[in-house]
Amino acid sequence: MEDCLFCKIVAGSVPSTAVLETEHAYAFRDINPAAPVHVLVVPREHLGSVEDVGSDRAGLLGDLFDAIKAVAAKEGIAESGYRVVTNVGADAGQLVHHLHFHVIGGRSLRWPPKGSEAGG
Ligand code: AMP
Ligand code: ZN
Repeated sequence: MEDCLFCKIVAGSVPSTAVLETEHAYAFRDINPAAPVHVLVVPREHLGSVEDVGSDRAGLLGDLFDAIKAVAAKEGIAESGYRVVTNVGADAGQLVHHLHFHVIGGRSLRWPPKGSEAGG
């Protein structure tokens, strides 16, 4: 996917600040953080969104959630709590069409999200 921003970030042709690297996942800091901790966890492989994965990709999804938890532990928010968000499509405001999980924490987050406050 030559035109995909997160494929370029995974490949290293667009710079990012790495938080964690695993065989199947890459985690890096969101360029426009919604909270003191705001990390994006993406599969190295191009997948558009949750709409493109399921039980046939159970191994990959497990790896992604292991990476999410490892990011939370590394960032020191595993015990204080955090939010995991993945936007799917237009109404959710998905801007980058490469599956990614926002890991947001480091402050008290409101729920439910209102308006454009994806990070609460
Ligand atoms: P979404 O609306 O879920 O597709 O969110 C895309 C996220 O990617 C937003 O939170 C952006 O701030 C973030 N983002 C966009 N470009 C970059 C970049 N070059 N490096 C890091 N994060 C980015
Ligand atoms: Zn991609």
